[in-house]
Amino acid sequence: KKWVYAFAPGSAEGGADMAELLGGKGANLAEMATLGLPVPPGFTITTEVCDAFFAAGNKLPEAFKADVMQALDNVGDTVDARFGDDKRPLLVSVRSGSRASMPGMMDTILNLGLNDKTVEGLAALTGDSRFAFDSYRRFIQMYGDVVLGVDHGAFEDILENFKNLNGFAADTDLDEESWREIIADYKAAIEREHGQPFPQDTSEQLWGAIAAVFNSWYNPRAETYRRLHDIPDDWGTAVTVQAMVFGNLGDNSATGVAFTRNPSTGEREIFGEYLPNAQGEDVVAGIRTPQPLTRKGARDAPGTSLEAAMPGAFNELRQIFDQLERHYHDMQDVEFTVQLGKLWILQTRSGKRTTEAALKIAVDLAAEGLISQDEAILRIEPTQLDQLLHPAIDPSADHDLIAKGLPASPGAASGEIVFHSEMAEALKAKGKDVILVRSETSPEDVQGMHAAVGILTARGGMTSHAAVVARGMGRPCVSGAGTLRIDTSAGTMRAGARIFKSGDIISIDGSTGRVYAGKAKMLPPQLSGTFATVMEWADGARRMKVRTNADTPRDARQAREFGAEGIGLCRTEHMFFEEGRILAVREMICAEDEEGRQQALDKLLPVQRADFEELFEIMAGLPITIRLLDPPLHEFLPHEDREAAQVAAALGMDLMRLKARVAELEEFNPMLGFRGCRLGIKYPEITRMQVRAIFEAAINAQRKTGQAVRPEVMIPFVAYRREFDVLRRVITETADAVQRDMGVEIPYDVGTMIELPRAALRAADIAGGPAGADFFSFGTNDLTQTALGLSRDDAAPILSNYLEHEVISTDPFVTIDQRGVGELVKIGTERGRAAKPDLKTGICGEHGGDPKSIAFFESIGLDYVSCSPFRVPIARLAAAQAAI
Ligand code: ADP
Ligand code: MG
Ligand code: MG
Repeated sequence: KKWVYAFAPGSAEGGADMAELLGGKGANLAEMATLGLPVPPGFTITTEVCDAFFAAGNKLPEAFKADVMQALDNVGDTVDARFGDDKRPLLVSVRSGSRASMPGMMDTILNLGLNDKTVEGLAALTGDSRFAFDSYRRFIQMYGDVVLGVDHGAFEDILENFKNLNGFAADTDLDEESWREIIADYKAAIEREHGQPFPQDTSEQLWGAIAAVFNSWYNPRAETYRRLHDIPDDWGTAVTVQAMVFGNLGDNSATGVAFTRNPSTGEREIFGEYLPNAQGEDVVAGIRTPQPLTRKGARDAPGTSLEAAMPGAFNELRQIFDQLERHYHDMQDVEFTVQLGKLWILQTRSGKRTTEAALKIAVDLAAEGLISQDEAILRIEPTQLDQLLHPAIDPSADHDLIAKGLPASPGAASGEIVFHSEMAEALKAKGKDVILVRSETSPEDVQGMHAAVGILTARGGMTSHAAVVARGMGRPCVSGAGTLRIDTSAGTMRAGARIFKSGDIISIDGSTGRVYAGKAKMLPPQLSGTFATVMEWADGARRMKVRTNADTPRDARQAREFGAEGIGLCRTEHMFFEEGRILAVREMICAEDEEGRQQALDKLLPVQRADFEELFEIMAGLPITIRLLDPPLHEFLPHEDREAAQVAAALGMDLMRLKARVAELEEFNPMLGFRGCRLGIKYPEITRMQVRAIFEAAINAQRKTGQAVRPEVMIPFVAYRREFDVLRRVITETADAVQRDMGVEIPYDVGTMIELPRAALRAADIAGGPAGADFFSFGTNDLTQTALGLSRDDAAPILSNYLEHEVISTDPFVTIDQRGVGELVKIGTERGRAAKPDLKTGICGEHGGDPKSIAFFESIGLDYVSCSPFRVPIARLAAAQAAI
């Protein structure tokens, strides 16, 4: 078995397509090595070793140790050093790296191979003992924390105390002697807390580090991250062992991270940060505030740019970025180190970006000829579009500015201050909007960041942990607001003389970096030109139409702005709840005879007609499916005495008799009770009123707009063909009467909602013949409920229990259960079309806005999906991706 894959500039055993085995980091290091880029030599231990490690009860397989030692010797040959050697010690990093990038979630150990002897060798070799001992203390601290489980706070306290006592401000001010003293204290702390001395044997260090990196796959923050990003537990991590290069060798050395394009805006410009005289972790950890890479970046950030400080290394970096983009056809996120003026590349991966940037980069890459239009469409995660639909802070309103930081992740948010991740989760569970406020975030905070509507940090740059994770999650984030003093234990945030406490409301603007006291005034989202371009491309690529579920003029207008091609579901009952109408609705329901009902219906007719008329006007000729009254009547019943009295008075009915009537209408299981077509069959006058309203409205709107209107009347909850026939007759008679009365003929369709398993199975009956259904709209919310026998209003606790027990892997009300409910949709479509070839088919459940479900609907050939207005852009893109 091949356990390790070597790489060195010019050649490698692996490549970018081997991420499954080598992890993303290892695979891309191999790829870059093959491209001839300056990558320090090393080798990657495969994810199969990780599997073997866990299978053996967290033990490294003996067989692979010899291979590692051999690979290590080869690395030593390349750099003229030897692992564990006193004179020319080889130092390595031991790096985690899984198939999917999980930034900062797992552990990495730097400077491994140092001990009391080799550190002297390193000092002699480099002639820089400050550097050698700086590296050693870093190693002891990292090793102590990651491998030996000694809390890193213990080391930080030692260092802080030393600095305070001796009047040092920055870590870089400490000399060899200082580090020697600190190292002694570090070692003592380890022996005290761990019970054993810090290991001097470099092989023992190596095995310990490799095992620790494997184990970090199961640390809580990695587990959380995987859960949030749907990454399976069984992938495991690879481990890359790589010769160290040193960014902490003085002012001619540096370390940094860069994006080949701006990850916030997508602008084609190098974007990133570096720290002179530092090692990798310093930049991401946000311990020192890093400096910008480019001269342009230096205009709005402190410090000298890399471009100005080290022009040679910077230019080489720029060339390598171009080469990487041309090679990978995508924006890259690159880690690099400059050692005594020489540039080394330590990592590349496709960079996380905001939605805005994703759109711009995809469109630009297509224009640059690096990817095709179809690829550009596929590059964008449809659900990410949600981010764009976020509001922004109104720049014209007066706001109480309290601090300014870096615009780390765009979007605006208002919420209560919280200082702890657990608190953020707890308050989120109570339905509160919270802003997580931290000095700097660490990977332990992911869960809290996820729970928060926004993130604010006092330290850390644009590539700090907080910024990267926030952009990935689509959470607005302001980082490095340096004037804020955050005291987590006291629960306070000081901005100048003002003190804010947890629970106080603040607003952040992740696009400008501004922080305000109180709840800021927000503006609706502005959609950019690149958004329009991508949508246009998507529209050209998709087959299915995208409609919206809308009951109100506001929703209908919003959906049209987002590109809806009609209304797939207009629920008429929502109109009944509005003020001024509910009384008439209650009269209709409670009336004891047809006469009383008719009086109430006469009051409802003009309001329904006005509602429909406005919708027809807004949709200007686009199709609208209007569903006849569906919900169980009891939902409308007067439940309070005051309401009951009102209804009784309006109907001229005795209160006791009214109450008896209400009791008569109560049901044990209303969702499977007197609802849907069952209402219209019993009380056809309700259907008549609704149909009259629809057709009068359609004809009026057609007169007004001059656009031909074609109403689609939908009968809900049908199980039998006979139900459909009875109501179709009522509909046709009424529609004919209205057309005669108004002297206008308009074409129309009568169809049904397929939401009962029987209807899907008997689809041929229901659609058959000229009087059969003209269209099917799969009501997948109810169909899921009825097919699974799982009440959607009671499902939440059951589903979370099922997810835990792996009975199901996704919530069937979010992503369609393809094998069960999906099969019913497929059968219904096939059988319906066999009976009526031009049957129109669509879906109008929540699944209509879910990309995975949309891919399924494309595969079974539905004509359209219909979803809520804010999902329309997502559905347009997802439908295009499904068709490509
Ligand atoms: P993560 O996945 O958390 O980014 P990495 O393995 O990439 O962890 O390493 C963390 C930091 O250490 C990075 O900044 C990286 O550039 C730096 N680093 C890793 N290996 C080396 C090395 N061989 N020489 C110098 N710096 C390194
Ligand atoms: Mg990294
Ligand atoms: Mg339904």
